[in-house]
Amino acid sequence: MPSDELISHIQTKANIVNVVSAYIPLQDSRKALKGRCPFHPDTNASLMVSQEKNTFKCFGCGKEGGPIEFLMAVEGKSRTEIAGRLAVKLGLVHDMRTA
Ligand SMILES: [Zn+2]
Repeated sequence: MPSDELISHIQTKANIVNVVSAYIPLQDSRKALKGRCPFHPDTNASLMVSQEKNTFKCFGCGKEGGPIEFLMAVEGKSRTEIAGRLAVKLGLVHDMRTA
């Protein structure tokens, strides 16, 4: 299991905008970026992405979190799997078996 320290490191280092926009197109709104939520049938871009907080929140279905939670939900994978992959990608560890 990845340590809490590693998890929080990933949550700040992985850019939520890059993570989310790899799956759904994001558009600028006044305070945040928004897009169609991939977690419920969404017709009016309920998913907000805050660059400032590095988090997302859907006002339709209530799903929220950081980059790890987004990837877990969108890919249906475990926290360990996502954290391990991001840690390697971000250069925080060299091998995900040590994450
Ligand atoms: Zn939603």
